[in-house]
Amino acid sequence: MLGKMMHQPLLISSLIEHAARYHGDTAVLSKEVDGSMTHSDWCTISDNSKRLANALQALGLKRSERLATLAWNNRRHLEAWYAISGSGMICHTINPRLFPEQLSYIINDADDRVLFFDTTFLPLIMAIKDQIDHVEHFICLGARDEKVLEQLPDVLFFDDLLAAHTADFDWPQLDETTASSLCYTSGTTGNPKGVLYSHRSSLLHAMALSMPDVSALSAQDVLLPVVPMFHVNAWGTPYAAALTGCSLILPGPNLDGDSLVSLIDDYQVTVALGVPTIWQSLLTAAKNSGSKLASMTRNIVGGASCPPSIIKTFREDFDCDTRHGWGMTETSPLGTMNQIKAKHKSLSKEELNELRNLQGRPPYGVEIRVTKTDQPLERVAEDGVSQGRLQIRGHWVIDDYFTENKDAITEDGWFDTGDIATIDADGYMNIRDRSKDLIKSGGEWISSVELENIAAAHPQVKMAAAIAATHKQWGERPVLIVVKEAESELTEAQMLEFYQGKIANWQIPDKVIFVDNILLNGAGKMVKKDLRDEHGDVLLSA
Ligand code: AMP
Repeated sequence: MLGKMMHQPLLISSLIEHAARYHGDTAVLSKEVDGSMTHSDWCTISDNSKRLANALQALGLKRSERLATLAWNNRRHLEAWYAISGSGMICHTINPRLFPEQLSYIINDADDRVLFFDTTFLPLIMAIKDQIDHVEHFICLGARDEKVLEQLPDVLFFDDLLAAHTADFDWPQLDETTASSLCYTSGTTGNPKGVLYSHRSSLLHAMALSMPDVSALSAQDVLLPVVPMFHVNAWGTPYAAALTGCSLILPGPNLDGDSLVSLIDDYQVTVALGVPTIWQSLLTAAKNSGSKLASMTRNIVGGASCPPSIIKTFREDFDCDTRHGWGMTETSPLGTMNQIKAKHKSLSKEELNELRNLQGRPPYGVEIRVTKTDQPLERVAEDGVSQGRLQIRGHWVIDDYFTENKDAITEDGWFDTGDIATIDADGYMNIRDRSKDLIKSGGEWISSVELENIAAAHPQVKMAAAIAATHKQWGERPVLIVVKEAESELTEAQMLEFYQGKIANWQIPDKVIFVDNILLNGAGKMVKKDLRDEHGDVLLSA
């Protein structure tokens, strides 16, 4: 017997309708490319997205076509997002930090019809324009601009499109499994691969993201998504913001520590999300300026392993609950989030700090397991010690890639993440490494993440990467690549001494190499493959 309750599809348009109706005057502020701050609200965002939806229809664009964006987190980008997905087209957010060849590759792979862009990225577009001839319309996210017209004569301007259309638009009632947006993986190896989200997966993800043990979003919050909308949909925050009716501060292009401290203090941000490097520079800026970041009660860190020193400093010096989460483009991205349980309240401060360094446990909606590295269907014990391949399944986890059939899923229906992790009896997961970054010394595994976390806690270390270097006797041994803080005189001996007592002696790196810079990929993560190529033989010549 079926239940007798209404069935309504879970659609992205219902989020913006909800925000406009019940939180219409709640502020949405946006830092623009020219440095100005635009004051808007959910009602205006909704109206403008309907105007744009009318404009897209007038341009002859059809459902399921891909419309791409090359843009910062700002108001027009948000309006384009809701207009595109709400009308049944697919919003393809592109990471502008990719190399030009990767950009043209993914624009062609996605077969994008339209490219919305911030003026910042005009040079990038001009550089690849000849390689992306399927794109029919270039839409500049701004008012009419003669300088843009000079270079791109057939460009359309976002503000002109809005002015030419009314906000009278009825969102189509789509099937909830319709595709809504497309993101490509950062592709440190091989070509980037497309991950195609649906309305249903995005809605369920937004609900999970808002839950108390995840980001605890409410209509009392002022949310700052530092993580870009081109990185896994800003981790779903623009959807969750409309769902909960919180206020949104879109930070635009300036993501340096000083700019973020000003945004947090000026607009009383209560919750913010970003990768560890963002928080590292924010902490430095806050300390220099004397700001206590008083309004920020919590922040979420993910995308790469967060050095424990960051989590501890936020908590102890800024009274800010830093929550460590884990996820991937393929998981929308929410996989796990660290929040304690009631039974943990009796733990000592040190024990709690240890617990908070883990990547956390899954919210309702996804499940995780660890399996043997050589037998991907056989589970290892969930005892917090045994490590294996991290696999995940759930409502917002990929089933297959956009174009390539990559056999993403195991025979029994789990997505293999390529991460190596432990899970404890309470479900708390700890990433030990990317499977390809693990260091295997004489048959024993050494976690590069652990070596990097220790190095990052040294006050004179700006950035550190641990890589496997080939070794005649042990197969592989760890080598640490370090970028020092400005004017630091840190020596190799001092760096190695810093490891004493923190890990077993045999895990301490064999060598430290100081470099000026470590290349970051489009998602702000260290490109360790290049470091291995360059320094992987350093111990052979020793
Ligand atoms: P991406 O799809 O570019 O977001 O990259 C996903 C990968 O980032 C994961 O497979 C992990 O290797 C890594 N990652 C994400 N969050 C964390 C975290 N909290 N700790 C360690 N690694 C992480």
